[in-house]
Amino acid sequence: LLSINGLTKSFQDLHVIKNVDITVEKGKVVTIMGPSGSGKTTFLRCLNGLELPEQGHYQFGDGFTLDFTQKLTKKDMLRLRRKSGMVFQSYHLFPHKTALQNVMEGPVIVQKKDKQIARNEAQQLLTKVGLHDKMDLYPHQLSGGQQQRVGIARALAIEPELMLFDEPTSALDPELVGEVLSVIKELANEGWTMVVVTHEVSFARHVSDHVIFMDGGHIVEQGPPKDVLEKPKEPRTQQFLTRIV
Ligand code: ATP
Repeated sequence: LLSINGLTKSFQDLHVIKNVDITVEKGKVVTIMGPSGSGKTTFLRCLNGLELPEQGHYQFGDGFTLDFTQKLTKKDMLRLRRKSGMVFQSYHLFPHKTALQNVMEGPVIVQKKDKQIARNEAQQLLTKVGLHDKMDLYPHQLSGGQQQRVGIARALAIEPELMLFDEPTSALDPELVGEVLSVIKELANEGWTMVVVTHEVSFARHVSDHVIFMDGGHIVEQGPPKDVLEKPKEPRTQQFLTRIV
C-alpha cells in the first residue's frame, strides 16, 4: 500500500528522523515501539503530511508518488492527507461539538458530503465503536476511553486507506485501555491497514504483523512480533523490552 524511502526530518539542528525506509502492506498492522523522544510521533505525522519531511520518497499502491526533495503542490499535500486517518494520544475532539458532530465534521466540511448521508454514516461508525447511546453528548461528558473511540470513528469517517494511531491509549486510565484496544483489534480483523505507535507489548504481539523498534531517529530492528519482541537481536531492543515488560 505504501513504501517510503529515505525519510528524513529535522527541527532546526535536531535530526529527529534519519533516512528511514518502511513498507506498509495492505491489510497489515505495523506497530512502532521505542523510547520516548525516539521520533515515533514525528514519523507518524510525516506519514500523513502533518509534518513536512526534508527528504523522502513516498510510493502508494495506486501509483501516487511524492518526493519531498521537490516542492510539492497543495493538491499533492491534500491527496496525502486524505489517504490516512489519524488518531491522537489526546483525542483532539472539538469540545463544543457533540460526538456525532465531531464524526461528521471531516466528511461534511472537507469532503463536502451530503449532510444526511454523513449523519447516517457517522451514526453507523459510532455504533461500531460501541457509542450508539452517546452520540449527542459533548466530549466533556464522555470518559477518556469513550472520547478516544469517538476519535477513532472520526478518523474512519473520511474513509482513509490507512489508519494511523499515535499512542492511542497512553492518556487513558488503565481500566479504559482495554475498550480502546479492542476496537483497534476489531479494525485489524476487518482488514484495515494500520500503523500504530504503542507501548502496549501485548497488543503489538497479538495484533500486529510487523513490529518496528525505533531509537534515535533510526529503525534499530524490525520484523514479525515473535522475532522482535520475543527474540530481539539488538541490545537496544533487548534493553527497552526488559524495561517496559
Ligand atoms: P514520545 O514517546 O515521548 O511521544 P516520540 O518517540 O514520539 O516520543 P517525538 O515526539 O517524535 O518522539 O519527538 C522526537 C524529538 O523531536 C524530541 O526530541 C522532540 O522534542 C522533538 N520535536 C518533536 N516535535 C517538535 C517540534 N514541532 N519542534 C521542535 N522539536 C520537536
